[in-house]
Amino acid sequence: CGIVGYAGARPALGIVLDGLRRLEYRGYDSAGVAIVCGDELLTEKKAGKLANLEKILAERDAADCDALGIGDGTTGIGHTRWATHGGPTDRNAHPHVARDGRVAVIHNGIIENFARLRAELEADGVQFTSDTDTECAAHLISIALGQLRAAGHADSPQLLAEAMRQVCQRLEGAFTLLAVDAGVPGAVVGARRNSPLVVGRGQGENYLASDVSAFIEHTRDAVELGQDQIVLITGDSIEITDFDGNPAAGKDFHIDWDA
Ligand code: GLU
Repeated sequence: CGIVGYAGARPALGIVLDGLRRLEYRGYDSAGVAIVCGDELLTEKKAGKLANLEKILAERDAADCDALGIGDGTTGIGHTRWATHGGPTDRNAHPHVARDGRVAVIHNGIIENFARLRAELEADGVQFTSDTDTECAAHLISIALGQLRAAGHADSPQLLAEAMRQVCQRLEGAFTLLAVDAGVPGAVVGARRNSPLVVGRGQGENYLASDVSAFIEHTRDAVELGQDQIVLITGDSIEITDFDGNPAAGKDFHIDWDA
């Protein structure tokens, strides 16, 4: 339902949670975050209000003590869910993490052909941990990344974007997807088909969201993605392509209304 992504130099967790709070008006049944911290992926998700998620994050923060904790990572994604496939439970909340524990995905919309994709993945031995249509995208991105690495490609933000492109070509339906990979710190990739996604252009940091209100307190320079486009953000770059990898342009605009 609500989607937020951040890549930059500041701690991502607080920015992502603030963004989700700004999207609360849309209604939701669960919430979650994935933060890339060092070269680790840290996730928390919880059914119910954002306050439930914040409570377990606070407990986790206390337990982390001086270790690198979820509050330290500077790349992150966050989601508020309005369940369509699978009940509003902790395990069905987003992000969904691939079995490698390194790729996390959030999703708005419905992947219409998920049952076929899931059956194919299960036949290959992938075990699912949720009832959502979304989880297949996490596994597919992780597998695509693995194949690209096996073919000799080094980890880079562009490799994450290439994996997203390959997977989007197989998805049917309406989706905004964001993904991060622990092997590619500093980058968030997004994709959209029949579902909104906007980029917020900051200074040494960039944002992705389903709605500009998520980042309006940080920047008013925005880019609206077109249909069937992929966007890759890092702290200092925004790269847009179509699903085939051809360079594409979004629609730049300035938010001049009061939020
Ligand atoms: N179809 C997905 C689910 O049920 C995403 C729902 C949403 O847009 O929040 O988990």
